[in-house]
Amino acid sequence: MIRVLFCGEREADWLILQAALYGPGSIAPRFHLSWEASLEGARQALLQNAGDLYLVDEALGGGQGMELLALQPAASTTSPILLLSSGISLSDETLAIQAGAADVLSREELSPRLLRRTIVHALARAAARRRATDIPAGIVPQPLLHQRLESALSRERLARASVALLAVSVPDHTHERITAIIAERLLTCTRELDTVSQSTSGHFLVLLEGLTHTAEADVQADRILLTIGAPMSLQGKEFVPQPCIGVAVAPEDGDSAGDLLRSAEEALRNAQRDGIRGARHALGPLNEKAQRRWQLRRALDGALERNEFSLHYQPQIDLRNDRIIGAEALLRWRSPQLGHISPAEFVPLLEATSQIEQIGLWVLQEACHQAQRWYVGGLPVKVGVNASARQLASSDFGRLCEQILVRTGLPPGQLGIEITEGLLLESSPHVRDLLKRLRALGVSISVDDFGTGYASLSYIKRFPMDVIKIDKEFVRGVPLDIENAAITSAILALGNSLGLKVVAEGVEHDSELEFLRSLGCSAVQGFYYARPMPPAEFESWARGRTPNA
Ligand code: C2E
Ligand code: MG
Ligand code: MG
Repeated sequence: MIRVLFCGEREADWLILQAALYGPGSIAPRFHLSWEASLEGARQALLQNAGDLYLVDEALGGGQGMELLALQPAASTTSPILLLSSGISLSDETLAIQAGAADVLSREELSPRLLRRTIVHALARAAARRRATDIPAGIVPQPLLHQRLESALSRERLARASVALLAVSVPDHTHERITAIIAERLLTCTRELDTVSQSTSGHFLVLLEGLTHTAEADVQADRILLTIGAPMSLQGKEFVPQPCIGVAVAPEDGDSAGDLLRSAEEALRNAQRDGIRGARHALGPLNEKAQRRWQLRRALDGALERNEFSLHYQPQIDLRNDRIIGAEALLRWRSPQLGHISPAEFVPLLEATSQIEQIGLWVLQEACHQAQRWYVGGLPVKVGVNASARQLASSDFGRLCEQILVRTGLPPGQLGIEITEGLLLESSPHVRDLLKRLRALGVSISVDDFGTGYASLSYIKRFPMDVIKIDKEFVRGVPLDIENAAITSAILALGNSLGLKVVAEGVEHDSELEFLRSLGCSAVQGFYYARPMPPAEFESWARGRTPNA
């Protein structure tokens, strides 16, 4: 549907227009025709990009119709404006076209047929121009972004959601085709809620609304950097865009549309000046972290295919008989450029994108394979695999587990899945069903980092689970650390009364071990016994302790 907006005061013109578009031989219903009778209304409509074609009476607002032409760049609209004139001279006509009118129609010679032809030609020329620059249709004019920003800001003051503005640029190129590709990529990696626009100076602006946490702006900025920074091929040559982004978050960096825009653009200029390829915050201090995250994300891209991941295994010891009862599989990443990176740093980055699904699957497969080899080799260690919320949320996690167990031949009782406590809080029926399904298979469920996620007793009762793992933060320094000792003994009492096994993590010292033992803790995991080890090392360590179980 093509929106034609008539901006003029005379009803006679409106009737001609209707006849032309809806009368015999007309081109409707491809068209939707509307009428704006005031200059101010027309101005607003233009700024809001309300029409795909404007038919403007020169006499509008006491002869100010032509002024609307001057708004075109500000509205960054590519919609053609046809000027309707009364007795305009040839020189005036030229002037009007130079000022941006797509064509000038004199009222005297106005016929339905001429009008139709002029409209169709103007639209065709505009479409051809758009194709030449190829800026996709989802990129809105800057005034519209400005307006959305303003209303988002006033909504944000009421609700507790956040608004962020990103200024995105790819320096070192002027090629129009590259700009168009980048515009397309921007549209694919932003959410439907977001608004993408191009400023008059050429960089893109992205408005992010409804953020529940300001850190989400960084996640989104990273996603944009990654997407638009992918190599592209142009006339047979490869071009790798080096994007940078200025990030401004309300209200810290400005609480009006103008201020926020200035902050984002200033952050972008600073990033460009310093040669930063990444995101820079309007508030300086976040910058280094953002820079690091960006670096890591780039390095993570394709890391699985390049075999940069491995698994280490950390034993879990039964406190009653000092035997190995299991091992937790822990993901390790060695990047050729950045060296060993802790999972505490890179797992959240994988979780922010969907990468965790693929890598988590690899972990599960690898760990089951390993456990199966140990099992048939007379070392029956039950292996615990960490699973992220994102993996569990995907509908086929249960099926994948089943498949992997079947394919590797590992008895399901030899597999445990560790989920974080936070996941229980979401309390979705899907998660509950999934956990039930896994347990029905014989896979056990552990709740990891227990005590850090505020799950209440009722959650613990409602969810099917077998083991709770006390977070190492609460084990540290017991019993001398009185607070930790109180928390740890409360969790142990809770677990015992619910008939759950309790595993304490992060045990490093004798005193901690003795305290846990005295409280009836079933098992421990920690540097006191062993650090996470590569498979071969784990195997000889384990065989050294348990002479063929
Ligand atoms: P987690 O699941 O709670 O794993 C236990 C962490 O405690 C491991 O850190 C382990 O090396 C560390 N640890 C064990 N004993 C001690 C000790 O005595 N003292 C101290 N200070 N630390 C100890 P790591 O390997 O750095 O892993 C960190 C977190 O990354 C894990 O916490 C887990 O949440 C996540 N993670 C690791 N591998 C995976 C994975 O394959 N998938 C997912 N989704 N997350 C993983
Ligand atoms: Mg764990
Ligand atoms: Mg843990």
